[in-house]
Amino acid sequence: MTADPTTTHPALAATDPELAALVGAEERLQGETLRLIPSENYVSAAVLEAAGTVLQNKYSEGYPGRRYYEGQQVIDQVERLAVGRAKDLFGVDHANVQPYSGSPANLAVYLAFAQPGDTVMGMALPMGGHLTHGWGVSATGTWFRGVQYGVRQDTGLIDFDQVRDLALKERPKVIFCGGTALPRTIDFAAFAEIAEEAGAVLVADIAHIAGLVAGGAHPSPVPYADVVSTTTHKTLRGPRGAMLMCREEHAKAIDKAVFPGLQGGPHNQTTAAIAVALHEAAQPSFQDYARAVVANAQALAEELLARGFDLVSGGTDNHLILMDLTGKDVPGKVAAKALDRAGIVVNYNTVPYDPRKPFDPSGVRIGTPSLTSRGLTTEHMGAVADWIDRGVRAAQKGDEDALALIRAEVAALMAAHPAPGIPA
Ligand SMILES: *Cc1c(COP(=O)(O)O)cnc(C)c1O
Repeated sequence: MTADPTTTHPALAATDPELAALVGAEERLQGETLRLIPSENYVSAAVLEAAGTVLQNKYSEGYPGRRYYEGQQVIDQVERLAVGRAKDLFGVDHANVQPYSGSPANLAVYLAFAQPGDTVMGMALPMGGHLTHGWGVSATGTWFRGVQYGVRQDTGLIDFDQVRDLALKERPKVIFCGGTALPRTIDFAAFAEIAEEAGAVLVADIAHIAGLVAGGAHPSPVPYADVVSTTTHKTLRGPRGAMLMCREEHAKAIDKAVFPGLQGGPHNQTTAAIAVALHEAAQPSFQDYARAVVANAQALAEELLARGFDLVSGGTDNHLILMDLTGKDVPGKVAAKALDRAGIVVNYNTVPYDPRKPFDPSGVRIGTPSLTSRGLTTEHMGAVADWIDRGVRAAQKGDEDALALIRAEVAALMAAHPAPGIPA
């Protein structure tokens, strides 16, 4: 049971009961379900509070000490705090905490280092890259000439021979590494070597793994990449937002590209919440969290393999698992929708070399950041794999009763592991 919005959000409930009821319903949904979408998480109550403050009332175009509006006595301190914490946590020369989200942050990188029509390079979306790495339907693939690398069909691992050949042949201005469906450690050193050979700016997009990097559970790109781009709301467990970090030589170009290049006033309430999340991520307990996310993903991968599931690349090094359901004879979308009815929230996803169409692909993508934030451990991963297995089999048979039973079992476990930030 989740608390009544009239007590948990009294002002909202008094002004707008309709919206308050929706917030209550979303709290209940996030509380009762097993959330396995690898780009999602639960932020702390402290992060939520910071994001809901009067800092949002202030306009602050510019940067601390160089603003276009007066009255920045406090806001400058807030932004400096966030920037300082980002620099300390990731060990970078420079951090910009103003990008509204990951996609605008990446757009700022193009603005800083490329001209429209220039060649840029990233991982293909169906291989696990992100839209903003030069994929066709994205502005980054229409305003720039995107060339795309992928993974090897036999190993599911990034094909560095292809990356090198493509980079030397196409001479892109910018090379992106990182992605949205990569279950394995990213070899930043290998990318850096190729980028250097090709004379390209190397951008490490660590949106998914920033929390693992901060917590020491994934190697850092900082020694290798010219620019590090990240969202703040995935494994880093902050508010929806983004950061661009770079070496001093690129600081001016990055700052200019974010403001005035792309954005107006920064969202100061988000900056504040980012500062809080960075403070949390600097605590020793966050290293335990990052390690537990990976341990849970690896345990879950083992349990799924034992139940006959195919996993892209055969397993995981990080927080994410890409299940290939081709052998289970159920399309990813059918499985994802059935699991959703069973209280297990996942997303359907293409797998590399997918024989099916992108809107109806063969894969399901799952991850452990959220369940780890609720305190689930490797001991629970057998039960999670069982639910997934039973859910996929129920999807094949259209067995709604089986899905309802799983939903009740999931809700019982979730009730014993309250979610951060959700009023009890
Ligand atoms: C999530 C993600 C983004 C985009 O973030 P949004 O905040 O959704 O715009 C960019 N790059 C990668 C690799 C991502 O995973």
